[in-house]
Amino acid sequence: TDIKELLLSRIRDVADYPEPGVMFKDITPLLADPAAFTALTDALAEIATETGATKVVGLEARGFILGAPVAVRAGLGFIPVRKAGKLPGATLRQAYDLEYGSAEIEIHAEDLTSADRVLIVDDVLATGGTAEAAIHLIQRAGAEVSGLAVLMELGFLAGRARLAPALGEAPLEALLQV
Ligand code: IMP
Repeated sequence: TDIKELLLSRIRDVADYPEPGVMFKDITPLLADPAAFTALTDALAEIATETGATKVVGLEARGFILGAPVAVRAGLGFIPVRKAGKLPGATLRQAYDLEYGSAEIEIHAEDLTSADRVLIVDDVLATGGTAEAAIHLIQRAGAEVSGLAVLMELGFLAGRARLAPALGEAPLEALLQV
């Protein structure tokens, strides 16, 4: 479709970043283009509404940039999932494996209730490790995941298959597939 072509045309491939052999998908040209940024926000907000979300969770850091306007557009609250040590209040913490080593993310659990249905928003789905940890955080906070919405899914990394058990019936919506 036209929207997909617009979005794809505003994503820049950066070779060998952040390390040799990696082709990094850089969304900053898309953010700098108001038509593309608005189209992306609208498309993700539609997913929030369709999945019956009551909150939007954005994953640090690009998930903040995308998730916050989506929450406003959909009339929902926004909750950040941050790298460990950045949130000042009482948090839930979840560890997950990286290619080399591991990482931890956190959420302010009191921002979610058992009545909440949460749409998780991020820019790129790669291995799915980050999203999987976020799903567990939301579930541990007692809320339900309404879906996971990303701008771009890197299909060759098989994140979709990895996430299937954690997502259950909740949809994984990727506006673009690579
Ligand atoms: P995963 O945990 O392997 O799925 O990695 C996903 C996380 O890393 C997301 O938060 C993305 O923002 C980031 N990421 C991985 N690859 C890329 C990329 O090519 N472009 C932008 N972000 C990426």
